[in-house]
Amino acid sequence: MARLIDTVVSHEVQKTHLLGAYHKGRLHPVQIFSGPSGIGKKQIALALVQEIFCQNAHLGKACGSCPQCLKVEHEQHENLKIIKPEKSVIKIEKAREIISFLGLKDTHEKVILVDDAHLLNRQASNSLLKSFEESADRVYFLLITNSLQALLPTIRSRGQSIRFSPLSNEDLLKIKPFDPWVLEEAGGSVTTAMELQEESFQEVRNKTIKFFLDWIGRSSSPVDVASFKDILGDRERSRHFILTIQFFINRALHFRSGASHLAQNELNELSLELAQNPQYDLSSWVVSSIQLDRDLQENVDNILSFENFLIDVSPNNICR
Ligand SMILES: [Zn+2]
Repeated sequence: MARLIDTVVSHEVQKTHLLGAYHKGRLHPVQIFSGPSGIGKKQIALALVQEIFCQNAHLGKACGSCPQCLKVEHEQHENLKIIKPEKSVIKIEKAREIISFLGLKDTHEKVILVDDAHLLNRQASNSLLKSFEESADRVYFLLITNSLQALLPTIRSRGQSIRFSPLSNEDLLKIKPFDPWVLEEAGGSVTTAMELQEESFQEVRNKTIKFFLDWIGRSSSPVDVASFKDILGDRERSRHFILTIQFFINRALHFRSGASHLAQNELNELSLELAQNPQYDLSSWVVSSIQLDRDLQENVDNILSFENFLIDVSPNNICR
């Protein structure tokens, strides 16, 4: 088993800062890690916890293989409390679990890791603030978020904020030999890159791009909305479908804003066509794609929703 900190790609400045602060006894008790999803923030938080709990540290480095290190790696350490959202919210009950966890009598360090901390509701946030105030020495709170602004200002002001940037393509390639188009679209997120690289994603993506190339009139083959019934009726595949649509709209917006130094592929052909043709109103594509996503999640008749989307974004739509 490896020391977790050594398995995290990139973020060298943040890693050095956090370990240095901990070993000098100067780690701020409330850490807020912010940055895009899927870039390694939680792994770094767990790595820091390993450094805190290791029984076998040598020259100030966790060993990665003692029982304490292994329990942290498996997220099952008795002095580590991990809080995460349920159905996109962290409610007061979860914050109360923190209070009883902190009430347990022992002299060891304790760590509370709050994943997706921006999903704390107001009550839970206030309860967490109280925990900050009442916690003893050697208690650390690690808050992880992709949306720093969504945290209550009082929480932000009590913590030390550490920002993490998207990974470079070079860093992503250290993790896996991703295809060039995957690197182009992953936005520096390992999680997104892994998802895009899946065969099931690529199948949906290719079909979606081909459909829209036909729809904008690049070929003479008729478009067949009904052929998307299987994709739209499946939770995972419909997510792939929406992601593909959002990618090519974003790309078109980039092209329009002048950022056009992107490799050639079918998705870019499609985005370029939309960008260069002023009859396409890209803001209505953005709004309608959000509506389509919502409809699909709420199980509204999916073919009808897709047809409505096409009507909304059609250049011939005189209702706008
Ligand atoms: Zn260890």
